[in-house]
Amino acid sequence: MSDPATPTVRLKKGREKSVARRHPWIFSGAVSRIEGEPGPGDVVRVMSGDGAFLAWGYFNRESQLQVRVLDRDPSSVIDDGWWRRRLDLAIQRRAGLPGLEATNMCRLVHAEADGLPGLIVDRYGDFLVVQSLTAGIERVKPLLGELLGELCKPRGIYERSDSDGRRMEGLSPAAGPVAGETPPKTIKAHEGGVKFVVDVESGHKTGFYLDQRDNRRAVARYATGRSVLDLFSYSGGFGLYALAAGARSATMVDSSAGALALARQNAELNGLATGDIEFVEGNAFDLVRSYRDAAKHYDLIIVDPPRFAQTRAQASKAERAYKDINLVAMKLLSPGGILATFSCSGAVGAENFSRVIAWSSLDAGRDLQIIERLSQGCDHPVNPLFPESQYLTGLICRVS
Ligand code: SAH
Repeated sequence: MSDPATPTVRLKKGREKSVARRHPWIFSGAVSRIEGEPGPGDVVRVMSGDGAFLAWGYFNRESQLQVRVLDRDPSSVIDDGWWRRRLDLAIQRRAGLPGLEATNMCRLVHAEADGLPGLIVDRYGDFLVVQSLTAGIERVKPLLGELLGELCKPRGIYERSDSDGRRMEGLSPAAGPVAGETPPKTIKAHEGGVKFVVDVESGHKTGFYLDQRDNRRAVARYATGRSVLDLFSYSGGFGLYALAAGARSATMVDSSAGALALARQNAELNGLATGDIEFVEGNAFDLVRSYRDAAKHYDLIIVDPPRFAQTRAQASKAERAYKDINLVAMKLLSPGGILATFSCSGAVGAENFSRVIAWSSLDAGRDLQIIERLSQGCDHPVNPLFPESQYLTGLICRVS
């Protein structure tokens, strides 16, 4: 049994429904009383307004999201063994997944969707990169480092807890080596027969957009003989898969010089650095307009922008941005061309995204057929009772 001294968070009457439906977030507005003095990240017992046990979770007064649920079994104890079992389960769940056979990089822990709220662990070859997003994870970070060392035996563990979300938890950014060897400036990794260098120290996220793995492969199947425009290319993922699959040419567009330097390095690494690749640094929204004015055309266009909406409140502004970039991209497609377009704004959602693309085609004066619907890779699982875990949506469209 857990320590009776564990602080208790009591919910307002009628506010236990969300927890009962297994949603892992408890907002401050649902809390009626806090008994004891839980510090940031401390484990608390969550009780309903009627005094029934609901869950164990970790607490943070600083966050709107005051409790994140860890376990619903009243007899559970959230001790070192508990964290070890949860980590091990997430790791074991990836072992042997068919989607991960052709790569040495993947997400090992996908936060709430793996029952480990606020924790991301990505594997790149022999190295692990961890991201702690909450006070609850921050509190057990040294323990998690030890357990990951034991369970995965990596050459080294690196931390990239420098995402914006930490501010809402009252945490400042943290990054650097955690244990073992410091990773080299670029780690050599591979995915789907394409080699990539991954910069875990200064690359985006933990170094690579692992969630797009299956989609890069899906899009590459349309690439043979086509001219490709890879908008928001980062280190060249989609464009390089397309070239490896026989695309005639690829233009990679990104606003980050560092991302394009990686893309160039990756092209060379794969022996694809021929005159058929162009790397263009700039704002994709402006560049597509200049391409349209210059009457340029492409046979396959990928639109994979960064997250435009962080919250529901930003969804309609984000939808306008998706509509705008896709509308102009459609005008750049040659007849019968293929548009592969993505949104990683969970707040926009798959249904709304399809609607936005429909409006883009209407305003572009193009006929559009959706021929494939895409989502995130199997190492970024979705818990349907936690809809926020479904954030990436994509469409492959034929545009005429
Ligand atoms: N397709 C990539 C991931 C893209 S992430 C892959 O498969 O790996 C989004 C990218 O958009 C980032 O590299 C970021 O630098 C870039 N970006 C953000 N705003 C931009 C803008 N306005 N114009 C061009 N690129 C932009």
